[in-house]
Amino acid sequence: MRNKRFLSFSALTAAFSLCLSGCAGSQEASVQEHTAELFAMGTYMNFTAYGEQADAALDEAVSHVEEWESLWSVTDENSEIYAANHSHGRPVPLSTETENLLRFALEMSGQTQGALDPTIYPLVSAWGFIDQEYRIPSDEEIQELLSLTGYEKVALENHAVTLPEGMQLDLGAAGKGYTGELLADHLKEQGVTSALLDIGGNIQMVGPKPDGTKWRLGIRNPFEDGSFGTLEAQDCAVVTSGGYERYFTGGDGTTYWHILDPATGRPADSDLASVTIIGDSGVLCDALSTAIFVMGLEEGIQCWETYGGFDMLLMTLDGEIYLTEGIEENFTPEEEFSEQTIHVMEA
Ligand code: ADP
Ligand code: MG
Repeated sequence: MRNKRFLSFSALTAAFSLCLSGCAGSQEASVQEHTAELFAMGTYMNFTAYGEQADAALDEAVSHVEEWESLWSVTDENSEIYAANHSHGRPVPLSTETENLLRFALEMSGQTQGALDPTIYPLVSAWGFIDQEYRIPSDEEIQELLSLTGYEKVALENHAVTLPEGMQLDLGAAGKGYTGELLADHLKEQGVTSALLDIGGNIQMVGPKPDGTKWRLGIRNPFEDGSFGTLEAQDCAVVTSGGYERYFTGGDGTTYWHILDPATGRPADSDLASVTIIGDSGVLCDALSTAIFVMGLEEGIQCWETYGGFDMLLMTLDGEIYLTEGIEENFTPEEEFSEQTIHVMEA
């Protein structure tokens, strides 16, 4: 079963403190470093690429991000997703990028039994995660809005999407991973062989560091500032999802975060504190990090056993670490977690 793959995208990522030139090994002085920073898709993005081609390639990368944001934004009245969300049941034509991303998200929804569901937007919005006007919707409101969700009700044909009246899409759970994947392809086409793209905690790498060694990524500690360990990786994506990324504390003292369980319409309430997925496809890693955060440990492990094709690093709410055998050698826990048993999952 291990060689069975989720779909055909190729990409990889993590949420992290990054060690670029500072922390490991020497960098060849002759390799030029180029950087770009921008705020897009609701997050800070930081790109570093090396070599002569990197400067022009990064400028184009920034333009691409702006273009995709203008297609996928839920709030920009000119975006394709906005048009779909206000289409009153009429078909809305989609660009190739949007069609590919939506098709992938819908297929992943099926494969994760709806743990990922791009139609969850009415709930995300009701909890205030779009406008930051946080609130706890009533049970009746949640039930009513849940009737407006369900990925299987979305029709995607003839390069157009048709949503039943009142339904709305949000590609936020996979869009940044897809962006990283597309940008890595773009940089490679431009001849860049070493780059690290930090897309709000989704990490996409092109090749190894310029000195040929692996990148070292600090994986965010979901319980406090800092990281719980370091992962060495190259030419792949590392994407982390966790409840610590966006949340509010309700009047009832409970913490409510931005990843919702589409089965309940409420913040996902599993036994996991964070989920990091490592793989060749950025969009797959992003979709799965969100979905497995919703599923929890047992179902997440089953998902990996069934499909394979990726590695994962899980932190439970009890502070236990689970990782798949493929990254065992590449992960080093921080001192405070070094006494802890690390559970290694084997296929
Ligand atoms: P982040 O965007 O913080 O990196 P994720 O990739 O996990 O985190 O995506 C979370 C975003 O996806 C939420 O902000 C919301 O817009 C949307 N979302 C929340 N829950 C789900 C879900 N179960 N399926 C699909 N999208 C979701
Ligand atoms: Mg995600």
